[in-house]
Amino acid sequence: MSANLATVSYIGATILFILSLGGLSHPETSRRGNLYGMIGMAIAVIATIFGPRVTVGGYAWIIVALLVGASAGLYAAKKVKMTEMPELVALMHSFVGLAAVLVGFASYIDPSTPLEGAAKTIHEIEVYIGILIGAVTFSGSLIAFGKLNGKISGKPVLLPGRHWLNLALLIIVIVFGYCFIQAENTDAGMIPLIVMTAVALAFGVHMVMAIGGADMPVVVSMLNSYSGWAASATGFMLNNDLLIVTGALVGSSGAILSYIMCRAMNRQFLSVIAGGFGAGAPSAKPAGDAAQPEGEVTPVSAAETAELLREAKSVVIVPGYGMAVAQAQHTVNDIASRLRAKGCNVRFAIHPVAGRMPGHMNVLLAEAKVPYDIVLEMDEINEDFPDTDVVMVIGANDIVNPAAEDDPSSPIAGMPVLQVWKAHTSIVMKRSMASGYAGVDNPLFYKENNRMLFGDAKKMLDEVLAALGA
Ligand code: NDP
Repeated sequence: MSANLATVSYIGATILFILSLGGLSHPETSRRGNLYGMIGMAIAVIATIFGPRVTVGGYAWIIVALLVGASAGLYAAKKVKMTEMPELVALMHSFVGLAAVLVGFASYIDPSTPLEGAAKTIHEIEVYIGILIGAVTFSGSLIAFGKLNGKISGKPVLLPGRHWLNLALLIIVIVFGYCFIQAENTDAGMIPLIVMTAVALAFGVHMVMAIGGADMPVVVSMLNSYSGWAASATGFMLNNDLLIVTGALVGSSGAILSYIMCRAMNRQFLSVIAGGFGAGAPSAKPAGDAAQPEGEVTPVSAAETAELLREAKSVVIVPGYGMAVAQAQHTVNDIASRLRAKGCNVRFAIHPVAGRMPGHMNVLLAEAKVPYDIVLEMDEINEDFPDTDVVMVIGANDIVNPAAEDDPSSPIAGMPVLQVWKAHTSIVMKRSMASGYAGVDNPLFYKENNRMLFGDAKKMLDEVLAALGA
């Protein structure tokens, strides 16, 4: 393939990636968006493999890498459950970071293109920054992976003087960066490069360990953004325009998503970007300091729940992480269809951080074929709760916790929540009185107008559906 054809293919792939991102912004166009992305990626891979920069001798390596990568991808796509997707995404971000680190070292010691003067300095800066972003992304994403799958506790680990520690790490990175650029040869440059890599790895661990459970959505989207910038930095090192543009697309869309998540959680965007959030934020407080809810809970049976639903003129369904665990989305859709057929106004309320990844609930409801027009965002539906007869909270907890509004000492204080307690009756479906991801008690359970339907969401909803009758 000629260099010109490769360039045209790269431009085509870039346009497809932009169309893909545009398509992914709405459920109705998201399938098309995914298709654009797949075609764009196929074009990018083919144009790179058959482009002018790969020699015939390299094909064997590429085929081996493609086989290993494709088998791992296919295996993960088949095996990984929907509830494990957030961990998988975090793991994939870590691979992007690791790739940036490895490409950085390879590019630094590569003797095939000796550079002089300003070009050499610019290349070294690219290498240094690329490895820095890559190493932070790698170790930070691994810790996020551990926190999301529960192998590492969701509680924030706050070292004494942690901001000073971060500042010290930053100074070390700058000083060693200067030594690296001044190094006379590759051997001399290797020491500052390795020290900086170790510091960046430590910083990634420290940054994510310090973040409490409730703030994890911001971390997930922020690491998504970092992985994009790591890919972009790799593009600079390899002189590959497509990688630079694609990385920048991922980096900037991830940054926008982080901003949206911050707004949804009432956190400061700039302090998140600096990785220094958690300490001043309420989430840093141990859950034990918050006021403990008082009172008794009122359990209900599936038959009573069906009765309440049958009487209701308006119902709002609030799905949460537990619905994903129970895989109850299809039964939820069946119940919604049955109620709608009887003339009940049924709508779904989606909190921006419901589940364990951005858009988690939308994906599940779309899979169950819930019509998009009855799926509303938090801001669109929050005012309607006082006029709602019954709210069904299915495996959700933190996103409907009134303590976020009422208790300034709560770890989730300030986070906007779905005000389900304002409805005539709310029914919370979960297996026990256990807390949600943020590890905080929920006063909603003890409210007078709240009922608890204990059990696995799928099992209980099957019973509710049966009790509703045809
Ligand atoms: P939560 O984690 O707050 O609550 C989920 C509830 O589901 C639990 O209390 C659990 O209670 C219940 N549950 C679990 N399994 C089942 C089951 N099989 N059947 C019925 N219930 C079940 O989830 P939310 O969606 O309310 O809130 C999301 C939380 O996750 C927020 O704190 C958010 O910050 C965080 N987060 C979100 C991310 C995102 O990007 N969306 C990323 C990372 C974290 P029980 O055990 O009693 O059944």
